[in-house]
Amino acid sequence: MRISRFFIDQPLSTDSAIDINDERAHYIRNVLRLKPGDSLVLFNGQGGEYRAIVSDVSKKTVTAQTTHFDSINRNLSRSITLGLGILKRDAMDLALQKAVELGTSNIQPLITDRVTVSAKQIKTRLQHWQSIATSSCEQCGLNLVPRILEPKPLSEWISSLDEICFIAEPGAEIKAFHIEASQSPISILVGPEGGFTDQEVELARESGLQGVNLGTRILRAETAAISLLTLVNQSLLESDSSNF
Ligand code: SAH
Repeated sequence: MRISRFFIDQPLSTDSAIDINDERAHYIRNVLRLKPGDSLVLFNGQGGEYRAIVSDVSKKTVTAQTTHFDSINRNLSRSITLGLGILKRDAMDLALQKAVELGTSNIQPLITDRVTVSAKQIKTRLQHWQSIATSSCEQCGLNLVPRILEPKPLSEWISSLDEICFIAEPGAEIKAFHIEASQSPISILVGPEGGFTDQEVELARESGLQGVNLGTRILRAETAAISLLTLVNQSLLESDSSNF
């Protein structure tokens, strides 16, 4: 059985007792039903992970004793940033979860002309999105948690880019499977449910973003993000087997 992993938002070191008090304690005690002597893996997002043994389970707290540190890093060898037009709740959650699994280093939620989520809702979602990223890391084995950046307008993000960036656009000139991800950090830009306006595409093109297309069908934004990130993973696999 795979050993369960937990993100612990506190300093960690070997041979120390760690108290887990948040919703993870409930999950460990009532869902996984772990008992003293059972194994866990703990990580705090600073890199590497700690093997630990449950030493005590009480009503509100699970205590685990760390035994040894493993510096393993399962991140991709290149930094990938996903700029994503903010999607409605479930679609955004799915896109973020899958983007993390696929090794995205930074996720930049973007306010574009056709984003339908209100500014008030966007403000309240950042913490929720970060917790999705953290849970996704618990599940997929990443020890460095990707950053969900403060949402910003598309034009502001584009003007701050200093790396190669691709904009996903139906019909664009580059076929997505030709993306060469191994040369440098890259960013990819995917629009919201309603897509980009002509002016936004023009701005992106004038700023040097390269258009990539994912085939003849119009994909949902979350499918487009997942497909592009899969192809980026494929490109990195071909160039560097240490990614796998
Ligand atoms: N309503 C829009 C589609 C939006 S799809 C329209 O009819 O054009 C949301 C986003 O997914 C798009 O902005 C684009 O970034 C990406 N996307 C969807 N299908 C794509 C494809 N075939 N190729 C490249 N990008 C695609």
